[in-house]
Amino acid sequence: MLKKPCPWCNQKVSNFQVGNRPRQGKPRWYQLSNIQVCPFCSQPIRKTGKGWLGLLGFMPAFVGLTAQAHLGKDVVNVSPWMPLLYACMFAGFLVVVGFTRWGKASD
Ligand SMILES: [Zn+2]
Repeated sequence: MLKKPCPWCNQKVSNFQVGNRPRQGKPRWYQLSNIQVCPFCSQPIRKTGKGWLGLLGFMPAFVGLTAQAHLGKDVVNVSPWMPLLYACMFAGFLVVVGFTRWGKASD
């Protein structure tokens, strides 16, 4: 998969290489007890950037499938909409992959 440079040591790190370690000190209520760390330099990193905007591309499909499930009718499985929904999802995926960066995190 695509690798992004670590903000601390500049090594390319993919999503699957990221390590975990317990937080130093007590986590706040909105924090996970584990933090993500760079596999090369063990510094804490987190996802930053505008990658989350890509999730908007999945909204039409999500809304459509939910509507379909509730109405029991073919809303999404109507042929003109399918390529459009797939296009939205694909574009969204590209945005997620392209705009997500590793940023410095603190303990
Ligand atoms: Zn690093």
